[in-house]
This record gives sequence, structure tokens and C-alpha cells, in this order.
Amino acid sequence: MNVAAILNVKGRAVATAKADTSLQDIARVLSERRIGAIVILGGDGRVEGIVSERDIIRAVADRGSTCLSDSAGSVMTRDVITCTLADSVDHLMQTMTAGRFRHVPIVEAGGLVGIVSIGDVVKHHIAEVEQEASALKSYLVS
Ligand code: AMP
Repeated sequence: MNVAAILNVKGRAVATAKADTSLQDIARVLSERRIGAIVILGGDGRVEGIVSERDIIRAVADRGSTCLSDSAGSVMTRDVITCTLADSVDHLMQTMTAGRFRHVPIVEAGGLVGIVSIGDVVKHHIAEVEQEASALKSYLVS
């Protein structure tokens, strides 16, 4: 199973922002959309960074709530690890585990085409296990 199969179910919408967006505005979007990370895009539409709720918590812990007027660019991770649609879900899970992060933007030909979170992977895995169980059940009763 590959990354495209997950995006086919969850869709390709990605919350994005510019690096000059304030952390207050980023936090508002994370809260309103009930998501954990926002991808930061450059003027050319390429992925420039990622800000997760953890980056905001760290900034508040270090500098206090005044950091909320700082820009996303001041806390974002610039070295973003991405996957492609053809990558396997196993590879995606290994990437998250090795990098200790829960979000992976999906990039094709330099353009952002989706994002997969650890929650999406778990949901996908549960659906697969349920499918297997029901296939086994129908095999046993037939
Ligand atoms: P997360 O577990 O996704 O909330 O992120 C934990 C930390 O990893 C934060 O500092 C994020 O900015 C960073 N991070 C999240 N996703 C990625 C990614 N795909 N590549 C690199 N760093 C990331």
C-alpha cells in the first residue's frame, strides 16, 4: 500500500501559511482546523518549512507568550522531510519513527500535493486490519 491510497481517502487539502504569519495566527488555524501542523510555503509555492504545535509550545516555554507575535519563520523547521505519492506506507511510518515527527508533507515535482499525519496512518492501518478480519470471517463461514 502506498501514500496515494491514504490521500485518496483523506483528500489533498493542506493547511499552509507564509513564513511571516504570526504564531498567534498559526495557533488559531491549528485550533480551528483541529490539526497539529502547518506547512510553510515560499513565494514560489515550494515547501519552505513546517510549524507544528510542538514548535509553538517550545517557543512559549522558552520566551513566554510574547513569542506569539513572532513569525512562523522564527520557529519553523526548515529541513523538512517529505515523501512522494508512490512511497509505501511502511516507508512513511519508518520516516516518522526515525525523525520523531508526526507529519509528512507529500511532494511531487517540487509541489505540495498533500500531508499525512500519524493519525491518518493509524486510521489506514485499522481499516486494513478490519478488512483482513472480515475477509477471513467470510472465508471461514463459506
Ligand atoms: P510533530 O511531531 O509533527 O508535531 O513535530 C515535531 C517536530 O518535528 C517539530 O519541531 C516540527 O517542526 C518537526 N517536524 C514535523 N514534521 C516534520 C517533517 N516532515 N520534517 C522535518 N521536521 C518535521
